[in-house]
Amino acid sequence: MNIAEFRNEPPIDFSLPEEREQFLLALEQVREKARVGEYSAAPIIGGELLSTAKVAKSENPSNPEESIGKVHFADEALALQAITSLQGGLEEWEALGFQRRAEIIAYAGELMRQKRRELAALMVLEAGKPWGEADADVCEAIDFCDYYAKCALGLSTPTHLMPYLNGELNHYSYSARGVAVVISPWNFPLAIATGMTVASLVCGNATVLKPAEQTSLIAAELATILREAGVHDSAFSFLPGIGEEIGPVLVGHPGVHLLCFTGSRAVGLEILQRSAVVGEGQRHIKKVILELGGKNAIIVDDDADIDDAIKGVLYSAFGFAGQKCSACSRVIVLQDAYERFVERLCQAANDLIIAPAEQPETFVGPLIDQESQQRVLNLVRERQNSLSLALSSECPDTGYFVPITIFRDVPADDPLWREEAFAPVLCVAPATSFEEALQMANDSDYALTGGVFSRSPSHLAQARRELQVGNLYLNRSITGAIVGRQPFGGFRLSGVGSKAGGADYLLQFVEPRSITENTMRKGFTPELA
Ligand code: NAD
Repeated sequence: MNIAEFRNEPPIDFSLPEEREQFLLALEQVREKARVGEYSAAPIIGGELLSTAKVAKSENPSNPEESIGKVHFADEALALQAITSLQGGLEEWEALGFQRRAEIIAYAGELMRQKRRELAALMVLEAGKPWGEADADVCEAIDFCDYYAKCALGLSTPTHLMPYLNGELNHYSYSARGVAVVISPWNFPLAIATGMTVASLVCGNATVLKPAEQTSLIAAELATILREAGVHDSAFSFLPGIGEEIGPVLVGHPGVHLLCFTGSRAVGLEILQRSAVVGEGQRHIKKVILELGGKNAIIVDDDADIDDAIKGVLYSAFGFAGQKCSACSRVIVLQDAYERFVERLCQAANDLIIAPAEQPETFVGPLIDQESQQRVLNLVRERQNSLSLALSSECPDTGYFVPITIFRDVPADDPLWREEAFAPVLCVAPATSFEEALQMANDSDYALTGGVFSRSPSHLAQARRELQVGNLYLNRSITGAIVGRQPFGGFRLSGVGSKAGGADYLLQFVEPRSITENTMRKGFTPELA
């Protein structure tokens, strides 16, 4: 494999019967391994797998009675130990150089490719992700390995810059930042954990991964793959644990140089605040990368192709049960198309199949856990008192399912219009003009993704100029950014940092250095033996 040539991993075509058969077999094999207790997650520090007193079962959100494996959660003492261990391994890992580390990370991508069906099947069962979404998650993880390996090659050789004075030699180079903490969410349990971790490692940082509690088993598979690929035991720690317990210990540790977080706005802002405190003996300012939530809008123009718009909105709003940071949660429709659009949207949404994630026909699976289910059911019940309900679909009783819910004529000051629900709950509202639609879409704390369905070239051009989002999609769905093609990330309260899967991403994980030498020597000092 040539690291310098990046190509996206193609998704599995589940319309082919042989692919469906293979995936059913993978699900069966994962279930069998789960039954005999082969899946577990436990802290790994300095290459040592540690069992701990706090153990939880990782359950299938489609059927919570089914246990997929056991998770040993790390405590505060292990969090401290993980950082100390990485401090010891940093020098050797950095000394390997970009080229060798890139080879290791690309090999990790190859190992994922070899077991892609097992990884996707495990994700279907542990995260409740439907087949196509789980497969796309694995493809994205492989892409992150390959893409960041390629990008790292570009950082390996110091750049020779123009001299300002005669005889001046100017070099610009990159070195690792130090010890890094990666904290990942459950909704892209392999892709996001992989992307942040391998970006940090390939740049020479000794890195600890703290995955989301709900998807620790998938993250443990990543840890195994990274170690098998050749990441030094002393440069990588794996720390499943409860965020509120070990998160503050990791974030506040004075020996940590870099924090890379993807998750909720509340936790992200807490991390930002805690990491700004300079601890005892600390001689650096921590670099913080945060990728947070969104309240993403799609505008449907009065001349839009309604069939396309409905298809795009359904996938963006209800794919993976709306549990994507990029998911559409607001639709703004031009007045002339409003009634027709709402009626047809509700009919189409009512036909979507809500079922256990392991069934191939499932469009909407369960929410991740009981806490999310309760939160969403309460939220919908409460907003129903003041909003106009356009659809509340049927859903299964077993598992953490919630109905597909659509509210219409939602006012811009309603909490549901403004705050992330992270569920298949959609707000729709009319706009009297395209300008007003843009203004409504932009009136948000967030700026992550957004979209427009229109056949008017001038409106599409206006949206390019004026719609304030990190990832804008025109006449298509607004989720599913592809590594290297659609670098992903937002601004405002959607986060700080360069886009994941983009050419600038790795620059956040390195310390740039400029070296200037005056070569106009006045004689040489002989080297003493
Ligand atoms: P979350 O913030 O609850 O948890 C994320 C991670 O933070 C988990 O590993 C958790 O254990 C840890 N954590 C919790 N409390 C902590 C603390 N006090 N200190 C340190 N770490 C702590 O988020 P989630 O529910 O896992 O994920 C959903 C959120 O993530 C949504 O808001 C979504 O929009 C966002 N998200 C954003 C992106 C993006 O690229 N912008 C991508 C995916 C998800």
